[in-house]
Amino acid sequence: MIEPATERDLEIMALQLGRTMRGVLGVGARCACGAPTVVVTSPRLPDGSPFPTFYYLTHPAATAAASRLEADGTMAELQERLREPEVADAYAAAHAAYLADREAHGHVEEIAGISAGGMPARVKCLHAVLAHALAAGTGVNPIGDAVLELGDWSPAECACAPEARGTADGASAS
Ligand SMILES: [Zn+2]
Repeated sequence: MIEPATERDLEIMALQLGRTMRGVLGVGARCACGAPTVVVTSPRLPDGSPFPTFYYLTHPAATAAASRLEADGTMAELQERLREPEVADAYAAAHAAYLADREAHGHVEEIAGISAGGMPARVKCLHAVLAHALAAGTGVNPIGDAVLELGDWSPAECACAPEARGTADGASAS
């Protein structure tokens, strides 16, 4: 899903990241409160530089949960899971899906074939695979799905700072 980013979305993302996002195409996923959790970024930024991370995790609590899993050895365990052919195939398909999503918003030669997070064969950044799983929905990125499952953050329960909350008042934004 890519929803257009409202002024309030851009404001919340700036609060979440501590800087203004450039090249915003829209919002890829939201918290239960409606605040963005994933920003979708143009494959080429306004200044001309290529930007491979189409789905970027903005939510501080989600980012912290992914960081904890990277630090506690879970990342190595997730890399191990790719030994199973079924998981490896699904992860390679996630890589292809990621590239297709991005390609629909412009071909950028410098990053052609490069997705994010270590895909298609490595697990290098849990933030990137989690962002993909949140935007694409369950069943697209097996490693991203596992990060969501194993982490202690969920988009179903709002953990946003009061000033960075969306306007859905706890109702589902979808
Ligand atoms: Zn929230």
